[in-house]
Amino acid sequence: PAVLSSGELGARGHTRPHVVFVPSAGMGHLLQFFRFIGALSAHDVDISVVTVFPTVSAAEADHFAALFRDYPSVRRLDFDLLPFDASEFPGGDPFLLRWEALRRSLHLLGPVIAGVTPRVTATVTDVTLVSHVNPIAKDLGIQCHVLYVSSAAMMSLVSYFPIYLDNKDAGADVGDVDIPGVRRLKRSWLPQPLLDLNKLFTKQFIENGREMVKTDGVLINTFDALEPVALAALRDGKVVRGFPPVFAVGPHSSLASEATKSAAAEAEGSPMAWLRQQPARSVVYVAFGSRCAVSHEQIREIAAGLEASGSRFLWILKTTVVDRDDDAGIRDVLGDGFLERVRGRGVVTKAWVDQDAVLRDPAVGLFLSHSGWNSVIEAATAGVPLLAWPRGGDHRVAATVVASSGVGVWMEQWSWDGEEWLVSGEEIGGKVKEMMADAGVREKAAKVGEEVAKAVAVGGTSHTGILDFVAKLKATT
Ligand code: UDP
Ligand code: UDP
Repeated sequence: PAVLSSGELGARGHTRPHVVFVPSAGMGHLLQFFRFIGALSAHDVDISVVTVFPTVSAAEADHFAALFRDYPSVRRLDFDLLPFDASEFPGGDPFLLRWEALRRSLHLLGPVIAGVTPRVTATVTDVTLVSHVNPIAKDLGIQCHVLYVSSAAMMSLVSYFPIYLDNKDAGADVGDVDIPGVRRLKRSWLPQPLLDLNKLFTKQFIENGREMVKTDGVLINTFDALEPVALAALRDGKVVRGFPPVFAVGPHSSLASEATKSAAAEAEGSPMAWLRQQPARSVVYVAFGSRCAVSHEQIREIAAGLEASGSRFLWILKTTVVDRDDDAGIRDVLGDGFLERVRGRGVVTKAWVDQDAVLRDPAVGLFLSHSGWNSVIEAATAGVPLLAWPRGGDHRVAATVVASSGVGVWMEQWSWDGEEWLVSGEEIGGKVKEMMADAGVREKAAKVGEEVAKAVAVGGTSHTGILDFVAKLKATT
């Protein structure tokens, strides 16, 4: 090999790995990248991050800035998107459109990566981009890993779905998907767009799914005790023969800046400050993720349910998909009088809160959630029972894990996006009340919290997962 500077020589004389992260868009994806980058930066590895501005949402821009502030040694690789005509996809989800815009620009990434010093030895990308990034990495002779932002169960669907399609009768509709070694997923649990093979999301999903087996490794934000069956099936090649190494490295811990921010957010009158003053386990935390807009009719039923439950509550209410367009007033949606009637026992905000900090606060007794994977993992970490009300995408697959692991309870019959009926306030209120009083549910969730602590402690499965990944980075590049 060429002469290496001392800085480039690792402990055993190998080249020091230089990893380029290629994230996509959406806070559910980006937060996990930022947190994992934070964890990896404690190891003997150079890190660069492909950065695309402007971001889709304001929260994304804030968090990119915080990453580079918190970790000055992490390099920023600016990347410009080619012009992208979104009118091809009228009414398209802005994040999905960004994934597509990225995918169409990625052929320009090879030269960018090739031009970086020290020499790049690996990429870590998002599943939404892998069918484009992996071939680039292979051309450059470097490793390509996927940092997967959902569950091992969902990864088994991603990688098995193309095989399922190859085996099904060409004319038949998509039906239940029986994933070898994992479980049968009902058709109604699949991300809605998968039922239509012509959808942009589905095309990306299938292409990316086929590519997974050709990558060098998959990092998943889960841990062995949470999803033992799905992880074993992936690792044993039961889902897809020849599947690459799977590193279960979750939950990722939050960044220093997130903590600082949340401290700042505790100013008098803030939702956090209010939460701190509530009795132990008395508050229902209600949030449906960073980008999930619930219909205004359904929002009013949730309001009625929370009011009827008699519980204290903290409700993060989003009325639109992209935060920077969020101008529909909470008061307009909830109707006159609601905020007055619940004053003192209920707080409703559309602000960004540090959800991790909320869930760790002893006042929180229940999390009514859309069952986005990050939310599930954060509830597991805090040992707070989760009442899963999936709204779309991978949420029902995540909810299977909520139910099987003891993190919480899944309302399988509650409607999600595309199903027309509303869940009544009466039903919501009743379920909230029941779960707030259920010591068994609480105990199970607390046990999962203990498993998390073991997994991330030195010698635990997730801690070892990161070390195994770093070893893989240092192996032949
Ligand atoms: N996904 C995937 N491959 C793709 C696109 C999406 O595996 O090409 C997965 C990804 O894990 C995502 C899930 O499908 O979390 C459901 O997508 P959704 O529309 O809910 O987006 P998200 O909530 O993740 O932003
Ligand atoms: N989140 C937060 N504050 C908010 C809204 C969301 O910290 O006001 C975080 C939440 O903790 C989680 C992520 O944003 O880490 C949302 O991811 P999830 O998978 O739960 O849902 P998605 O937004 O992808 O639907």
